[in-house]
Amino acid sequence: MAASGTFDVIVVGAGSAGAILAARLSEDASRRVLLIEAGPDYPQLETLPDKLKRGYITAADILPSDHDWGFVGRATEEAEPMAVPRGKVTGGSSALNGEIFLRGIAEDFDNWVAQGNDQWSFDQVLPHYCRLERDLDFDGTYHGPDGPIPVRRWPRSEWLQPQTAFYAACLAAGFHESPDHNAPGAAGVGAIPLNTLDGVRWSTQLAYLNPARERSNLAILPNCTVQKVVIDGQRAIGIQATCDGELLDITAGEVILSAGAIGSPHLLLLSGIGPADQLQRFGIPCVADRPGVGRNLRDHPHVYSTWRPRPEYTMDPKLPRYQVALRYTAPGSRLRNDLQILMVSFATGRVDRGGDGVTPGGITLQPVLNLSAPARGSSACSRRIPRSNRALTSDSWTKPSTGSVSETPCDCV
Ligand SMILES: Cc1cc2nc3c(=O)[nH]c(=O)nc-3n(C[C@H](O)[C@H](O)[C@H](O)COP(=O)(O)OP(=O)(O)OC[C@H]3O[C@@H](n4cnc5c(N)ncnc54)[C@H](O)[C@@H]3O)c2cc1C
Repeated sequence: MAASGTFDVIVVGAGSAGAILAARLSEDASRRVLLIEAGPDYPQLETLPDKLKRGYITAADILPSDHDWGFVGRATEEAEPMAVPRGKVTGGSSALNGEIFLRGIAEDFDNWVAQGNDQWSFDQVLPHYCRLERDLDFDGTYHGPDGPIPVRRWPRSEWLQPQTAFYAACLAAGFHESPDHNAPGAAGVGAIPLNTLDGVRWSTQLAYLNPARERSNLAILPNCTVQKVVIDGQRAIGIQATCDGELLDITAGEVILSAGAIGSPHLLLLSGIGPADQLQRFGIPCVADRPGVGRNLRDHPHVYSTWRPRPEYTMDPKLPRYQVALRYTAPGSRLRNDLQILMVSFATGRVDRGGDGVTPGGITLQPVLNLSAPARGSSACSRRIPRSNRALTSDSWTKPSTGSVSETPCDCV
């Protein structure tokens, strides 16, 4: 379908959410859908660059590429700036992420219900989790047998040595075995569910967009950056986007922003929806004063600690890196499973510090503090027009009041 004329729905951003939305909405042949994406599109698996296709390669390897926005953030006022990766390609961050296919923690969903968001209880979300996946290891009430995204865990017989040793050490330390980390209530140590099959990363582009892309009512417009939502009175009537250096206006009955946790609030701000004082500072006419836009940003900080293995252990960059994880609750914490330790069989120097992604640096323990932790941050509109690089530079996580501190990722061998 040509990307011109009027559409019923414009979906902005072809990432994890946007690719699925466009595919599902265009199932109705009478609905004309435009999916617009700032990054490139690779319609055939054969032309998908290896770094996106091959799940064995870690996300950190592709940070400086054209497929990343190049955002920079600060964990605290004192911390050094750090890279905040976000995918810029069809499939979005699902095209370059760690492929760890872990479900959210049930209590987090129920907490949202307690705060008034009554459509998001874990029980209501569970059928959608099941519908997404084709779990090749587990079935039953909690798993989907035939969804578009294949999910599998490395069998114990194929675990690399650091993974086996980590698993044994966790059991020896008193943690339970967790064969299915996605079972409700699961905690302990076990194989990580991954959306990788035969070494191929199953992004939402492969799983949802590719089967839908031939539909005559779906238009996909890559390499086009939406500049703002066009608003008439209090109603969104379309978008303005830059495509090949040209500014286009495209109208629609409905506009869905699925440009990610940074991109969507940024576009709202550029469209005049956000804190009035910030909009005024950037000379953007205020359409709606919404102080919450760009606030309350959450992420899960990692602290890498890298270890030099014994010389007889050979490290191969092409072998799987993530296989086993421990999930547990910090002593005294009221948040179940607020900590995760990922065992990584192959570590390299950080790309933004000169690492090449393939030279071995050791093995890594990667502890992760999960999202429900109280640290939160904000993003601000730092430039009028979204650009491919560093559109956003002010992005901070405040120190939480409870005493735990969010850290900047670092490499130490
Ligand atoms: C390096 C990395 C590793 C991760 N590892 C994991 C993991 O192992 N497991 C896991 O569950 N999650 C992981 N995540 C998180 C997960 O990938 C994201 O939470 C998820 O992909 C977010 O989906 P989204 O649709 O909100 O945004 P995205 O998937 O980021 O999609 C947003 C899309 O909008 C596009 N866009 C933005 N602004 C514009 C604009 N102005 N005009 C047009 N298009 C625009 C972007 O280019 C992008 O394609 C990881 C994320 C990263 C970055």
